[in-house]
Amino acid sequence: MQTKYAFFEGQIVPIEQAQVSVMTHALHYGTACFGGIRAYWNDEAEQLYVFRIEDHIERFLTSARLLLMNVAHSPEKLRATVLDLLRCEGFRADTYVRPLAYKADLKIGVMLHGMTDEVTIFATPFGRYIEKEEGADVCVSTWRRIDDNAIPARGKIAGAYVNSAFVKSEALMDGYDEAIVLDQHGHVSEGSAENLFMVRNGKLITPSITANILEGITRRTIMELATNELGLEVEEREIDRTELYICDELFFCGTGVQVAAIATVDRRPVGSGKIGPVTKSIRDLYFDVVKGNVAKYRGWNTPVYVEA
Ligand code: PMP
Repeated sequence: MQTKYAFFEGQIVPIEQAQVSVMTHALHYGTACFGGIRAYWNDEAEQLYVFRIEDHIERFLTSARLLLMNVAHSPEKLRATVLDLLRCEGFRADTYVRPLAYKADLKIGVMLHGMTDEVTIFATPFGRYIEKEEGADVCVSTWRRIDDNAIPARGKIAGAYVNSAFVKSEALMDGYDEAIVLDQHGHVSEGSAENLFMVRNGKLITPSITANILEGITRRTIMELATNELGLEVEEREIDRTELYICDELFFCGTGVQVAAIATVDRRPVGSGKIGPVTKSIRDLYFDVVKGNVAKYRGWNTPVYVEA
């Protein structure tokens, strides 16, 4: 394992020391929330850039708030800790950072309030999430997305990812690369761990934040880049299942998956069945921006190492 350290119980320690008891509340009841942040290695600049670190920390704390957590660390402290941890690791490769806040009490009893909350963070080198980034074969899941009134999908709540695991395993076991999940009303929500965009008649369309989706940071990034840099019209609205069959292009986005084209849905080709021109231009621009190669968006790239 390449991970050598973790932030655990208030300090950076060797990863072997970052251990919890089998009695930990979060382990039994899923009472934890997490984040997923990418840092990109830029070979020319010899620099590791963390992408939109402040936005990720803000969402992490929002998820914690949904779980009635008292996180003992300020956003500034969490930001500094992520950077310190990455400096300790010294990675010179694309990296994934995983902060986790969890109910740490060693007790039986299902509840959210009045508990002790801990934060841990670790980082690991990380490449592609979906192998077929040029065109994934996906299905519409037979599972439905958890509803806001059951477990809010807008937070990255650990227990809610059991829903994502049902979705993903069904898709993989049936020979697909991923799945698209519908909400309780049968409208398109998102992927198991990705937001979704559709291109129809030159317009970029994505489900709105009330469609039981995670309020994705990549989704927001793409909406901004598409509008400002590519002059595309972006619409947030309900998407029907059958629009997936007749649209021109479809792609997933997320910190992990980045931008991944969808080639087929339920074995039906999407558009030409290959990555389309809009997806391609968004993907190329996204990679330039996250790597720190676009001056205008450099504010989203936080350098880890001291700048030469
Ligand atoms: N939806 C779900 C369910 C996810 O787990 C993720 C990954 N964090 C996303 C969407 C994409 O969100 P982001 O762009 O903020 O990583």
